[in-house]
Amino acid sequence: MRLVKAYSAPSATAPLAPATVSRRDVGPKDVLIEIRYAGICHSDIHFMRGEWGPVTYPATVGHEIVGVVVEVGPEVLKHAVGERVGVGCMVNSCRECDNCKAGEEQYCLQGNTGTYGSVDRDGTITQGGYSSHIVVDEDFVVKVPEAIPYEAAAPLLCAGITTYSPLRHWNAGPGSKVAVVGLGGLGHMAVKIAHALGADVTVLSHTLAKKADGLRMGATDYHATSDPATFTLLRNRFDLIVNTVSAPIDLDAYLRLLTLNGTMVNVGAPPEALPLHVFTLFDNRRSFAGSSIGGIRETQEMLDFCAANAIAPEVEVIPADQINQAWERVLTSDVRYRFVIDTASL
Ligand code: NAP
Ligand code: ZN
Ligand code: ZN
Repeated sequence: MRLVKAYSAPSATAPLAPATVSRRDVGPKDVLIEIRYAGICHSDIHFMRGEWGPVTYPATVGHEIVGVVVEVGPEVLKHAVGERVGVGCMVNSCRECDNCKAGEEQYCLQGNTGTYGSVDRDGTITQGGYSSHIVVDEDFVVKVPEAIPYEAAAPLLCAGITTYSPLRHWNAGPGSKVAVVGLGGLGHMAVKIAHALGADVTVLSHTLAKKADGLRMGATDYHATSDPATFTLLRNRFDLIVNTVSAPIDLDAYLRLLTLNGTMVNVGAPPEALPLHVFTLFDNRRSFAGSSIGGIRETQEMLDFCAANAIAPEVEVIPADQINQAWERVLTSDVRYRFVIDTASL
C-alpha cells in the first residue's frame, strides 16, 4: 500500500482540500499510473454533494484520468511502462455476466466497480482521479493515442464515451438529424462526435450566448430553449435528441421535437424523478431512453475515432487549488467546455 497526493472533501458541504489517499500494492494484473491530468465532470459534484445517495467521506472523485504507466504487475500483457493511458468511470466488473461478456461492463449485472465511491474487490472504497497516482487492473485501462493532446484527452474518458456510445447505438450518421441539449462538457463532445459521424446537428441551449462556439464545433443550427418559439419551430424535427442537462427539464416539450420513430436519450443525471405524459410518446411512436458511459472496448474505439477525426475536448487547465472555484463555475454553466486539473500541482 502507498499513500499518494489527492484533493478530497471531508463532507458534502466542505470545500475540497489537499489530502492523501491509499493505493493498493500493484497486483499481478495491475498497472500503477502516474496521473497527469484529471477532468472535472458534473457527476463529481452530484456525487460529492450526496445528491445521488449517501457517500463515505473523506472522498476523492475524478473519473476522467490520463497518465503514464510507471509500474506493471508480473502478469500484465496489455500495457507497458511509459505508455500513455486513460481510466474512465469504472475500474472493474464481474466479467462473467451476460452484459460483461457482451463487452458492456458498464451494465454489469452485479454492478460495475466505479472509479470512485464503489466498494472494491478488497472491501475498500475506491478513490478517484483528483490524485497523483492510481492502481488499476489492466483490463480497465485504455490506450490514449498520441494524436490527441494530453490534457485534452482526459475528458474523453467520461464526456467522450458517454456521448459516443448513444450516438453510435442510435445510428447517428449521414441523413440523421440530431439535437444536443446543453452545451457543457458532455454536450460539446456530443456536437463534435455527431458532426464527425456525419449527422446534421442542432444545439438546444439556455441562451444563444455560446452559438458561435456551437457552430464552430460542427452544429448547423442553434436555438435558445428560453425562447418558447423554439419548441414550435422545431416540432417533429429530430431523429435523435441527446439530453446532457444536469437538472430536470420539461421532457414533454423536448419529446415533441422528435420525428417518426425518434428517440430522446437522457445522459444527464439529475437526482429528481422527471414526469412525462405517455401521450407524447404515442405521437410519432417516440421513445425515451437512457444510456450510461460505455464499455471498455467501445471506449478504446471512441479514443481511436477521435484521434482519426482530429476531435478533442476544449479544455481549461487549472491547478488543484482552483478546483473549488471551477466547481462553482460548472454549477453556473460557466464552463468552456471542460475543466482539467494539472495533477502536477497537487
Ligand atoms: P456540465 O458541463 O455542467 O453541462 C451541463 C449543461 O446543461 C450546461 O452547460 C447547460 O448548458 C445545461 N444546463 C445546466 N443546468 C441547466 C438547467 N437548470 N436548465 C437547462 N439547462 C441546464 O455537465 P456535464 O459534465 O456535461 O454533465 C451533464 C450531466 O450528465 C450531469 O448530470 C452528469 O452527472 C451526467 N453524466 C451522465 C453520464 C452517464 O453515463 N449517463 C456520464 C457523465 C455525466 P447550456 O448552458 O448550453 O444550456
Ligand atoms: Zn463523468
Ligand atoms: Zn458483469
